[in-house]
Amino acid sequence: MKLKIWGSRGSIPVSPYPQDTWNEKKDLLLDFHNSGLTPDDYLKSKDFNSVAGYGGNTTCVQVTSKSGSNIIIDGGSGIRPLGMSLLGSDLGKGQGEAHIYLTHYHWDHLVGLPFFVPFYIPGNKIHVYSVCEDLEEVFEILFKKPYFPVPFNVIKAQIVFHQIEPRKEFKVGDLKCTPYQLDHPDPCWGLKVNSDDKNFAHCVDTEGTRISRDKLGDDLPLYQGIDLMYFDAQYDFNDHLSKVDWGHSASQIGLDLAMREGIKKVLFTHHDPAASDAQITDLKKDTQRYFQEQRRAKTSLYPVEWDFAYDGLVVEI
Ligand SMILES: [Zn+2]
Ligand SMILES: [Zn+2]
Repeated sequence: MKLKIWGSRGSIPVSPYPQDTWNEKKDLLLDFHNSGLTPDDYLKSKDFNSVAGYGGNTTCVQVTSKSGSNIIIDGGSGIRPLGMSLLGSDLGKGQGEAHIYLTHYHWDHLVGLPFFVPFYIPGNKIHVYSVCEDLEEVFEILFKKPYFPVPFNVIKAQIVFHQIEPRKEFKVGDLKCTPYQLDHPDPCWGLKVNSDDKNFAHCVDTEGTRISRDKLGDDLPLYQGIDLMYFDAQYDFNDHLSKVDWGHSASQIGLDLAMREGIKKVLFTHHDPAASDAQITDLKKDTQRYFQEQRRAKTSLYPVEWDFAYDGLVVEI
């Protein structure tokens, strides 16, 4: 199974090019100047995020099975470049199918949908899934004046809405998908995706208020037998404690869950729009400290692999 991150920011898209971002890069330019390396060798010597940052598109993830079945999770602004990338496939010729799962209807998860070009190509068939109620009505509002100039009936593709049941499996090709509830002020449904004996868990947006197995109850399977968990870490740990009911979590919460349940790898995401690239890198350092402390204190905890997501990242499991 392959995962591509098209948007890793939360709440609202951000520009990666404000003045302060350029100022942050000054140190990098000086470092390059003093290194004596060629540009190519210098870039190879750096970690990706210190040069390119984390990106500014809101949440959108593409999951692809070995045999090519595909599901898109959420339509944040990252779905715009994803749509452009699909124009080389059958969707560009009006002979393709796409599957879009919406976790909930907060703006940052929908804002890119009117810019998903395959909607406007006649002959395409696009399936839209959600557990949240009123899927068709909510979707049509996105294409309504005065919010958007192109009305819903101008969409040329065939749209098929699927109002799905909580905790009941639905299939997209050979991808077996099951929605479980997350902890968010408006109901939000994570997704467990299974294919070829691999499991991916999409856990965004969530505050992670239910941690114990008892409290997770019927939603515990979302965190069990997981090869890769994509987890909301918008805040640092102290912010998370003060922002009760804001609906977002911190990396330490995700790590606790992953170390207990034996989750193989975690990617932290839904980065705060107010966080600079340097601040997200600081969160990574905090996470590393916490991870080492926990592992030292209790060696039986699972040695989870983890990292922070960024726009354009591809992970295979
Ligand atoms: Zn969100
Ligand atoms: Zn939300």
